[in-house]
Amino acid sequence: MGKVVVDRDSVYAPCCYLICRVDSDGNWNTRDEKNTVLVQSDLDWPSLAANLGFVPCLCGSGSTDGTVDCPDCGEFAEDMIYDAGEFLDSCLGEEFDDPGYFD
Ligand SMILES: [Zn+2]
Repeated sequence: MGKVVVDRDSVYAPCCYLICRVDSDGNWNTRDEKNTVLVQSDLDWPSLAANLGFVPCLCGSGSTDGTVDCPDCGEFAEDMIYDAGEFLDSCLGEEFDDPGYFD
């Protein structure tokens, strides 16, 4: 299973996250289109962040994936999406197992 990282590229994709495949030397390139997936929709942030340990709702009910309001505690989806973005920003360049973006 390959390794990937989440990164940003303020010139090439200012508002997006990029999922980049890490090569055997531990390097990646945000401009290498073949080995990069652009995450354009903020609705994809919670599931992306979950790969790195993000839990969308602090009540821990698991009733929401972060893109809908939590039915148990009422946490708003927009807040969870915001939190997911902050979480991703704190994890840029951190390797994790590719859950299927490339393999
Ligand atoms: Zn909840």
